[in-house]
Amino acid sequence: MDQVAQVREKIDLVSLIQEYIPLKKAGRNFKAVCPFHNEKTPSFVISPERQIWHCFGCQKGGDCFTFLMEYEKLEFPEALRTLAKKAGVELKESFFQTGLSSKKDKIYALNRLALDFYHYVLTKHKAGKKALSYLENTRKIDNKLIETFALGFSPKEGNALSNFLVAKKKYQKGDLIEAGISFEYRGQLMDFFRNRVMFPLFDHRNNIVGFSGRVIDPPAGGSEGGKYINTRETLVYHKGGMFFGLNTAKEEIKKLDKVIVTEGELDVISMFSQGYKNAIAIKGTALTEDQANLLARFTKNIALCLDQDVAGSQATKRSFLVLEEKGFATTVVLTPNGKDPDEAIKNDPIAFKKALKSDISIYDYFFSNAFSSFDKETTSGTRKITEELLPIFMQIGNEVVKEHFLKKLAKELNTSYESLLREIEKIEKKEIAKDEIILPTKDKRERTEILEEYLLALIIQSENPAEIFEYAKESLKDYKFRTASIEKIIGFLNIYFKTHRQFDVKQFSNVLPQELLKTFDICFLLPMPKLLEEEEYRDEAQKAAKELRLLFLKDKIKFLSQDLKNKEKDQKPEEIKKLEEELSELIHLLSTSSSVIQ
Ligand code: ZN
Repeated sequence: MDQVAQVREKIDLVSLIQEYIPLKKAGRNFKAVCPFHNEKTPSFVISPERQIWHCFGCQKGGDCFTFLMEYEKLEFPEALRTLAKKAGVELKESFFQTGLSSKKDKIYALNRLALDFYHYVLTKHKAGKKALSYLENTRKIDNKLIETFALGFSPKEGNALSNFLVAKKKYQKGDLIEAGISFEYRGQLMDFFRNRVMFPLFDHRNNIVGFSGRVIDPPAGGSEGGKYINTRETLVYHKGGMFFGLNTAKEEIKKLDKVIVTEGELDVISMFSQGYKNAIAIKGTALTEDQANLLARFTKNIALCLDQDVAGSQATKRSFLVLEEKGFATTVVLTPNGKDPDEAIKNDPIAFKKALKSDISIYDYFFSNAFSSFDKETTSGTRKITEELLPIFMQIGNEVVKEHFLKKLAKELNTSYESLLREIEKIEKKEIAKDEIILPTKDKRERTEILEEYLLALIIQSENPAEIFEYAKESLKDYKFRTASIEKIIGFLNIYFKTHRQFDVKQFSNVLPQELLKTFDICFLLPMPKLLEEEEYRDEAQKAAKELRLLFLKDKIKFLSQDLKNKEKDQKPEEIKKLEEELSELIHLLSTSSSVIQ
């Protein structure tokens, strides 16, 4: 057995996926809300018998490797290495010599060297003296914090790091550019970060994916670019996919089952120094879906501690939509005087602690925000308030909470709950109209194709496939399948049941040709429209088979009538007679079949 198969054999897919998302038993399979697309009703199915997963919403699917690659955004070699370690399988070196994985590893290694270099400059070299005194005296960041967050300084000289990496560490120019550490300017290799305090960015797996560089204020000798610049997009650094501080905070987040989300690196460090070790910073203005997915692994309780200006409240609103969809319980921290956490702590740590403790639910936050921005006594104010709040409140996932806030709103506005519901209906209608244009229709296939898939699913998912198969076969005597792969699988089942009474799914899938496996697996995992009792499988299969046969007969009649018309024109009495007989037989068949099904 090759090593990939060996790892796959040893990993239990159900327990692997369970480490990331909660699963629910559903018959012989497990179900979950899909982590790869937005949905409320679960269409993500896992089969313990087949050790496969498939999502009927976004059509993603596969085995343990594809799950990990998709979830952790890994390349195959990385997923293999992770799972091999888990399974206790020692891999031969040859797996990692080539490809993307080694490219990523090279960037991680380069970033590690860059971090050590920046850190050395800040803490030991005279070029970092000014920055060190700025951090210690102006920012009150002591030695211990500098070590904890591995802070550094990038020297003013344009190519100190690049030179060090090429001359001393023997890296190629191209590697440094690919890692985002350097760039080429007039044929010269230049450092990307210059004259900045450096904050390394780790992913939750402790790889250094990039840096954030901040100017010292007031800027020493002027500065190019903004107050902060980040590593540009590389193979390992993706904007909107990570946080600053997650690697140091994640254990505390798990322990407290809560995360505090701030805007900046300095907020995280200040909070850490005060003992709030579950704070992280978004590298952007609002939380992205990727970030919410990442956080969901550690906690579902989140306190937003963002700036309280217009941009901050916009960011809170956008973050809310992402978080509500994922089922987070979200609160908002209102810092004293609207200062950012770093400033608020420096001003008055006790007041900040109080604010942190009295965080309010995000719904209350929106509520009081809207009422303080607009005058509810005027008509235009009332309209503005409803326009602001209804699109938010209609997104609330919990129906009880939703009703509570709508009733509260109705009371404040001196209107009825029902009229708010009617307004919501209007908004929803508009959104559906929007959806219909943008979204592809759910299932474009013909009913015949859907029924064929359903029939095969009924057969192979039942407790007694051989029996159900016989019933279906009986109803489908002269049927011709529309979907070639399903027809082939039915053929294989036919052969299989000649020699086996029991259906062993593993054995059967081993004899299936590779190209039929995907269709088979999809049918094996296809969720039933309702939970079926065992005897209902037979009835459903019969119903599906009969409807298929009816559709088939109707099609055939249509075809024959057309044929007959053509032949009449050509005056071929022999053939016409034959066709007429065939047609009348079909019509008879159709009428008898219909009487059975109705
Ligand atoms: Zn999905």
